[in-house]
Amino acid sequence: MQTSLPEALLATDKGQRAEAILRSCVHCGFCNATCPTYQLLGDELDGPRGRIYQIKEFLETGVASPRINTHLDRCLTCRACETTCPSGVEYAELLEIAREKLPNDRPWWKRLLIEGLKFAVPRRGLFRLVVAAGNLTKPLLPNSLARKVPPLRMADPLRTGEHPRKVIVLQGCVQSVSTPEVNAHLAMLLDRNGIEVVMLPEEQCCGSLALHLSDDDAMRQVMQHNLKALSPWMDSVEAVISTASGCGVTLRDYGRHLINTADAEAAVRMASKTVDVATYLAQCGITFQASREERRIAWHAPCTLQHGQRSRGTVESLLIGAGYELTEVADRHLCCGSAGTYSILQSELGTQLRDNKVAALEAGQPDLIATANIGCQLHLASAAGVPVVHWVQLLR
Ligand code: SF4
Ligand code: SF4
Repeated sequence: MQTSLPEALLATDKGQRAEAILRSCVHCGFCNATCPTYQLLGDELDGPRGRIYQIKEFLETGVASPRINTHLDRCLTCRACETTCPSGVEYAELLEIAREKLPNDRPWWKRLLIEGLKFAVPRRGLFRLVVAAGNLTKPLLPNSLARKVPPLRMADPLRTGEHPRKVIVLQGCVQSVSTPEVNAHLAMLLDRNGIEVVMLPEEQCCGSLALHLSDDDAMRQVMQHNLKALSPWMDSVEAVISTASGCGVTLRDYGRHLINTADAEAAVRMASKTVDVATYLAQCGITFQASREERRIAWHAPCTLQHGQRSRGTVESLLIGAGYELTEVADRHLCCGSAGTYSILQSELGTQLRDNKVAALEAGQPDLIATANIGCQLHLASAAGVPVVHWVQLLR
């Protein structure tokens, strides 16, 4: 694709990246075939190719077309288009660059909601209070809203002894409030196999919330805070692990987000130590067994795992190796509609995608649905007829 970005933009790192990404697109449109919003809405402007054109026009002219924010906000950042694209277009990074530069003409209530989410979700104590209040008032809420209130669980005590082999397991923000049992279960599995789990109390949200809500300053601030906490451990741990694939994909991208800052080197080092929990467990050479009587599992690979981290097949192998049977699931590449805060900010599309995904997952009559990201887990559980669990809990 030919571009003519203004000189002032090209003088910046982001301008150069935008130009390189735009130029790699050959506008073939293959990506539309796997885009969930294009499938639902059938509008070129709500598909990846159309969004790339809108971004190009905006970056070239500096003029935002009247509905550009609507079309870009409808994007889930699921990155299915990146997996499909034969030219390797790094669409998500281009979208980040555009979102940061676009004027914020969203309605006042949406801006307020976004500010509220940015403020409350990453602060564990406050988020716990909000979730507690939501659970208390649940009987008074309309059913559609009540089903969206995440559960509040107290963390199980961590069962981990001291071992020479150590890994850092990140707690996350939403997961530490709603499903702390996932990391507790992982700690127990690793401890049993001679690996100590280190959790850092000073760790904060990984930064993906601020990233998805286009608040670059807040994103860099939490990333720098986390690096301060994590960096002293880099020589003594084998890996940094997140059991939430949405956090994992952001952690592995710290180097790119902190490029040209004083923390660039530390960010690259930490990111290179970060692995998805499935990759780590598969490399450990441990033989796992099934922890549940139920055997039929419908596996939902989060977009952040299959498209973001390009990890495919590892969880499936571990589950099959432990004795589970995986049911057939159609359209595995499609997003479930959770996508960070998408299910809240784009509730209608998020609900449609969720219902389609639940139907696809339940078609094979599974006993359980398993997934790898807290957002997907809670979103699917709000509509599924069978329990939705983190796959790590299925191993012992
Ligand atoms: S992003 Fe990739 S698949 Fe989509 S139009 Fe451009 S080159 Fe084709
Ligand atoms: S990231 Fe997902 S929703 Fe956005 S354009 Fe790509 S495929 Fe479509």
